[in-house]
Amino acid sequence: MDAKPIMDIPTGLFIGGKFVDASDGERFDVMNPATEQVLTSVASATVDDGMKALDAAEAAFSDWAGRTPRVRAEVLRKAFELMMAEQERLARIITLENGKALSDSRSEVAYAAEFFRWYAEEAVRNLGDVMRAPSSGARILVQHKPIGIAVLVTPWNFPAAMATRKIGPALAAGCPVVVKPASETPLTMLALMPILEKAGVPPGVVNILPSRSSGALVDKLLHDPRVRMISFTGSTAVGRKLLHGAADNVVNTGMELGGNAPFIVCADADIDAAVEGAMIAKMRNIGEACTAANRFYVHEEVHDIFAARLTDRMRRMKIGNGLEEGVEVGALVNAETRDKVEHFVADAVAKGAEILTGGEPVPGKGYFYAPTVLVNVPDTAECLRDEIFGPVAVLQRFHSEDEMISRANDTEYGLVAYLFTKDLKRGLALSERLEYGMIGLNRGLVSDPAAPFGGVKQSGIGREGAHAGLMEFLETQYISVAW
Ligand code: NAP
Repeated sequence: MDAKPIMDIPTGLFIGGKFVDASDGERFDVMNPATEQVLTSVASATVDDGMKALDAAEAAFSDWAGRTPRVRAEVLRKAFELMMAEQERLARIITLENGKALSDSRSEVAYAAEFFRWYAEEAVRNLGDVMRAPSSGARILVQHKPIGIAVLVTPWNFPAAMATRKIGPALAAGCPVVVKPASETPLTMLALMPILEKAGVPPGVVNILPSRSSGALVDKLLHDPRVRMISFTGSTAVGRKLLHGAADNVVNTGMELGGNAPFIVCADADIDAAVEGAMIAKMRNIGEACTAANRFYVHEEVHDIFAARLTDRMRRMKIGNGLEEGVEVGALVNAETRDKVEHFVADAVAKGAEILTGGEPVPGKGYFYAPTVLVNVPDTAECLRDEIFGPVAVLQRFHSEDEMISRANDTEYGLVAYLFTKDLKRGLALSERLEYGMIGLNRGLVSDPAAPFGGVKQSGIGREGAHAGLMEFLETQYISVAW
C-alpha cells in the first residue's frame, strides 16, 4: 500500500478485519479542497472486492447476531467513548478532506459519536409483543430479528455522521455491514475503523470499500441474495437508481435523499431568534447539508429588517482554510460544487435578484464562496427548485399564510421546513400543513440522534435515529403459538 501517510489514517480497503489493497491494485487521490492539493490516495474497491466483503460479512453474521444485546451495546458504548477521545484528530481529518471549518467538524464528530451512544442504549430495547388472537385464542408472538447484511452508502457532506447514523443501529440490531463512503471523503471512515476495532467490533462485522466505481460495485452488491438492506444517504437521482436496483431482489431500502428546505419567518416572529436560526439552518456546514435552508419566505412586514440583520451577520463571517482557528466558512468540497453555487447566483441575478452581500467566489486557491444574501429573487430562479448546497440565502416575501404554505409545499422534496413565529398555536397549526418529515419550529437545527430523521415525498423512505432507526435493521417475525 504505497500512499503518502497522513495522520496515521489507513488507506486500504477494510475487509474481514484487515486493511488490504484493491484486487486490481487501483487507487484514487483524495484532495484538500482548501488548497487543491492531493492529501493521499486510497485503494479503489472492485466488484471482486465487494464479493470478498460480502463473504466476510456472511462469515461474521451469526456470531455477531448471536451475541447478547448487552455485549453489542457495550461495544457501541466503547466506540462512543473512543471517538470522543479522538474528537480533535477526527475533526481535523474531516476538515482536511471535506473543507468545512474545524468548528463544524468538531460538532460533526460529537453528533456522529452520539449515534453510537444512542444505539448502545437502543440495542437492549428490541421489544416484541405477545397477545391472544381475538378469534382463535392462539398466542400471537412477535419478535424482531436482524434483517441481514446491510450495504451502507454515504455522502461526503457529513463523512462521519452519515456513516455512524447507519452503523450504530445496524450493529445494535446484529447486522454486519459493508460501507461505501463517498469518494471525496473516504479518509474519515477509514480513520474510524481502528476505533471500531478497538471498541471490540469483530472481523467481518464492518467492512469498508472506498471505490471509484461506485455504480458497478453497489449494483453488484445489491444483486447478491445475501444482501437484505441498502441504506443510502445522498442525492435523489442516485437514490432513484438504487431503488430500481433494489427492486430486482426485493431488498429493503432506507433512503435519505435531497431536500429543498423552506425557512419561513412570520410577521410575529422574534427577528433576532429567526436570524440566529437562519445562521444555523443556512450556514452550518457552509450550506452543504440536505437540511440547509434553501428558500427563505419572509412576511412582507418584517422582510427588510430580517434581510438587513441576516446580511450583517453573513458579511462578518470569517472565510478561510478550515484548519485555521476562528474560521467559520471553509472551502466547498470541490470545484463542481463551487461552480454550481456560482451558476445559481448568476442565474438569479440575471433574472432580477439583488445581491445584499457576497455573490462571488473567493479568488485564489481553494473552492471558497463568499456568504451571500439575495433578495427580490424571482420565482423563475433555478435556486428555488434545486439544492444550492452552498452559503447562499435566497429571500422572497410573502403576504398571506395560505400563499406561503402553498409555495413552501410546491416542491418534490419534503425533508425539513423551518418556521418562526412567537405564537405557538399558529406554529403548530402551520407545521401540520407543511408536507415535510421534520419541522424546526423556532429552531434552525433538527438533527438529533434521539429523533426520527427523514423526509417525505422524494426526500426519502424510512427514518434514521431514534428507535425507528433501529427498526430499519430489524425484520419482524410473528409466531402463531398454541400453548
Ligand atoms: P451522491 O452523488 O448521491 O453520492 C452519495 C453516495 O452515493 C456516494 O458514496 C457516491 O459515491 C455514491 N454513488 C454515486 N453514484 C452511485 C451509483 N450509481 N450507485 C451507487 N452509489 C453511487 O450525493 P453526494 O453529492 O455525495 O451528497 C450530496 C447529496 O446527499 C445531496 O443531495 C444531499 O441532500 C444528500 N444528503 C441527504 C441527507 C439526508 O439525510 N436526507 C444527508 C446528507 C446528504 P462516489 O462518491 O464514489 O460517487
